[in-house]
Amino acid sequence: MAEHFVYGPVPSRRLGRSLGVDVVPYKTCSYDCIYCQLGPTKEKTIKRKAYIPAEKILDQLYRKLKDLGRVDYITLGGSGEPTLNSEIVTLIHEIKKHTEIPVAVLTNGSLLRDRQVRESIMEADVILPSLDAHDQKGFETINRPHPEINFKTMVEGLIAFRKEYPGEIWLEIFILEGINATEADAVGLRHWIDRLNPEKVHLNTAVRPPAEASAQQVSDEEMAVFCKSLGDKAEVITTFEDRGKHEKKTYIEEDLLNLLARRPCTLDDISSGLGVHKSKIMKYIKSLIKNHTIAVVKKGPATYYEKRQKP
Ligand code: SF4
Repeated sequence: MAEHFVYGPVPSRRLGRSLGVDVVPYKTCSYDCIYCQLGPTKEKTIKRKAYIPAEKILDQLYRKLKDLGRVDYITLGGSGEPTLNSEIVTLIHEIKKHTEIPVAVLTNGSLLRDRQVRESIMEADVILPSLDAHDQKGFETINRPHPEINFKTMVEGLIAFRKEYPGEIWLEIFILEGINATEADAVGLRHWIDRLNPEKVHLNTAVRPPAEASAQQVSDEEMAVFCKSLGDKAEVITTFEDRGKHEKKTYIEEDLLNLLARRPCTLDDISSGLGVHKSKIMKYIKSLIKNHTIAVVKKGPATYYEKRQKP
C-alpha cells in the first residue's frame, strides 16, 4: 500500500473538520510526552531535514482535496513534530497558493527558539503550540524532551514567536492528575500565559488512551476549576460537533484505517470525522476487529478503536 501523508478529515475538538497532513514519519518528535496518544516516540530528534519532501506531500494533498466535501482546516502535524521538516515553509506557501482553506500547524513549540523555524511557519493562519509545564522539572516529567531542549529556551522561543507572528496562537495545555493539576501549577502556567498572550487557551486532559499509564485524566470538575484560574481566554475543549454535511466520501475502510493509525477514536469521532453513519462504520469495524487489524481499548465508559501496530 502506498504511503499516506494526508488523512481524514478527522474530528478535531479545536479545528472542526480537520484534514490532517503528516510532514514527518510516524512519531518523529523532539518530545516523548507521557500523554501522547500515538505511543512512545520512535525517533527523538531535533535534526531538521526534508523527512518527507514537500512535493510528495503536496501531490497527495491536491489529489485528496478534489475528492472532499467541507474541510475547516488543513492541519500540519499529528504524527510527530512538523517543524522538524525543513521544507515546511515551502509546504505552507504552496498550500496557501492552491486553496483558501486555512492552514493550521500543531507544534510542540520546542524549535521556535530558532529564528529560521519561526519564519518557516509565519504564513500559516493559526498556530497551536503546547505548553504543559511551567518549569524544568515539570517539563522533563511530562514532555520528556530531547536533551538539548530546556524549558527556558523553549518558552523564550514561544514568546519570541508571539512577538513576530501576525496570526492567531491557540495554546494547548494538557493537564494530568497528580502531575500538573494543582493550584500552584495553575499559577505557574498563568504566569507564562500572561507573557505569551495567546488568542485562546485550550485545556485538555488524557481522554484518549495515553503513551504511559501514569498520564491520568483529570475530572471534569477539576478541569473547570483549573480553567478558571487560567483567565478569560481559557476553555476546556469539548467534543467535536459536526456543523454541516459532508457530501462526498469514498474509500471508507482506507480512511478509517488512516485515521485509527494516528490516534484511537470512538465511534462518534469516526462517524463525524469521516461523515459516515455510525451503523455503516460499525460494519467495517467489526470485520477489522475480526481480522485483527484494529483493537478495542476501553477507557472509563468510552470505547476506543485503534489500529494495531505491525510486529
Ligand atoms: S504529544 Fe505531540 S509533542 Fe508530545 S510526543 Fe506526541 S507528537 Fe510529540
